Amino acid sequence: MVTRFYDQEKSYEDWCKENVNGYVFNYAGGKTGNVLHTVGCRHLTVPSRIGTYTTRYPKFCSTDITLLSIKADEVSNPYSWRRCKACFK
Ligand SMILES: [Zn+2]
Repeated sequence: MVTRFYDQEKSYEDWCKENVNGYVFNYAGGKTGNVLHTVGCRHLTVPSRIGTYTTRYPKFCSTDITLLSIKADEVSNPYSWRRCKACFK
């Protein structure tokens, strides 16, 4: 299952707490790009951004990286996303 969070900060934070081994696809587009992270990545816990993580663009979350990769392919146009270098090693 893939869950989409957009302007649902509390739900997103709860999901991350309940799925510490999960994955988060950040559908930012533009210059920032679309990036797949693991829950707990330092990019997802920047203090100045806590509370606004889902307000600017949606996040797709899943515990299944295959499903989340398929979703990333679906929503990114065209297939323009990457894995974060900080949390995927
Ligand atoms: Zn990351």
